[in-house]
Amino acid sequence: MNKTVLISGAGIAGLTLAYWLNRYGYKVTVIETAAGPRKGGAAIDVRGEAVGIADRMGILDKIKVKKITTSVEFVDADNKCLATLKNFGEDNLKQDIELNRDDLVAIIYEAANTDIEYLFNNRIKTIHQDNDKVLVTFENGEKLNFDFVFGADGVHSSVRKLVFGDETLYNHFFGAYFAILKVEETLGKLNRGKLFNLPNKLAATSDNGNSFVLFRSPKLNYAYRDDAAYKNILMENFAGCGWKTADILKAMTNSENLYFDEVCQIKMSSWTKGRIALIGDAAHCSGFPTGMGTSLAMQGATILANELMTANGDYNSAFSKYNSAFHPFVEAIQGTIINGLDFLVPKTEEAIKVRNAMLN
Ligand SMILES: Cc1cc2nc3c(=O)[nH]c(=O)nc-3n(C[C@H](O)[C@H](O)[C@H](O)COP(=O)(O)OP(=O)(O)OC[C@H]3O[C@@H](n4cnc5c(N)ncnc54)[C@H](O)[C@@H]3O)c2cc1C
Repeated sequence: MNKTVLISGAGIAGLTLAYWLNRYGYKVTVIETAAGPRKGGAAIDVRGEAVGIADRMGILDKIKVKKITTSVEFVDADNKCLATLKNFGEDNLKQDIELNRDDLVAIIYEAANTDIEYLFNNRIKTIHQDNDKVLVTFENGEKLNFDFVFGADGVHSSVRKLVFGDETLYNHFFGAYFAILKVEETLGKLNRGKLFNLPNKLAATSDNGNSFVLFRSPKLNYAYRDDAAYKNILMENFAGCGWKTADILKAMTNSENLYFDEVCQIKMSSWTKGRIALIGDAAHCSGFPTGMGTSLAMQGATILANELMTANGDYNSAFSKYNSAFHPFVEAIQGTIINGLDFLVPKTEEAIKVRNAMLN
């Protein structure tokens, strides 16, 4: 087969799709804005079906080696334990491996690094498609034709914007923002997290130095990727909150590696248009309180690749099956976000006590 594909985004979804399409005989190019596979983030979960997918990709053992043992305590302002989250990360989906996002990205990249062309520090600028091909212009001015283009460029996807329309058409905001700080040095695999709540706010830090904050807020007006604006917002929301929030704020505001975003979901009735399809957060971000973004990314990429392989060239049929096979599961997962948020950031002191009592 000489079909050519361009995948925008070398995150979990993009790398998984690159792995499978390369294996199925496509000529794969991956374009990524970062200087290499995008690093950053803290712990993520490979759950349920995604564990079997990792096994079929031949990377399950490597993932298991990087598994983090996590224990989580909710504490009061004096750091006294109020409740313990038992079996964190081993929920009723039975199969769950928690590891650092950087480790998973590195493992999938290593598996998907043969016969695949990577264009780092670059991005798609324009896309035009007709019945036979997709013409893409890159930021560096180069123009190339591909048989298919896949947007795996995350929740604020530019492929989605170029092909399907503005993000506001698909983004559902859940009234909360979060920030993650991952430190480079970690102290081993045991990841003891302590979580401190005030009504509508959560601050957390772990013994490997990572920290995390989450807070409810009406929609804020700031420029996406404006680091200084993120830091001001965090100061306004967490200054004087007590416990270790002063240390967490200091670490976050001094960092050049802060990941800040809104809690939102992407909902689309179709993830495909002509010869172009979206996968991962670009297609169906479920919001981190569901704990399923990474697993959905691996699952969707694998379903899409399998449908393309079995459709024997009939990409319309493959894309249609990808949409119909995967939408119900995605919607069920997206439906769990409110419970996840209420658990992590109860709205009142009373609700915090009820949550803690439920855990004890
Ligand atoms: C830096 C970072 C840190 C994260 N940390 C966490 C975390 O701690 N916990 C958690 O639950 N989830 C985290 N996530 C989100 C999580 O990775 C995803 O929800 C999930 O893995 C689905 O992956 P994805 O591949 O669809 O999206 P992502 O992992 O977001 O990957 C998208 C990729 O597309 C690239 N990209 C973006 N725009 C363009 C463009 N215009 N052109 C080309 N490439 C582009 C990005 O650099 C990135 O490599 C993080 C994501 C990122 C990018």
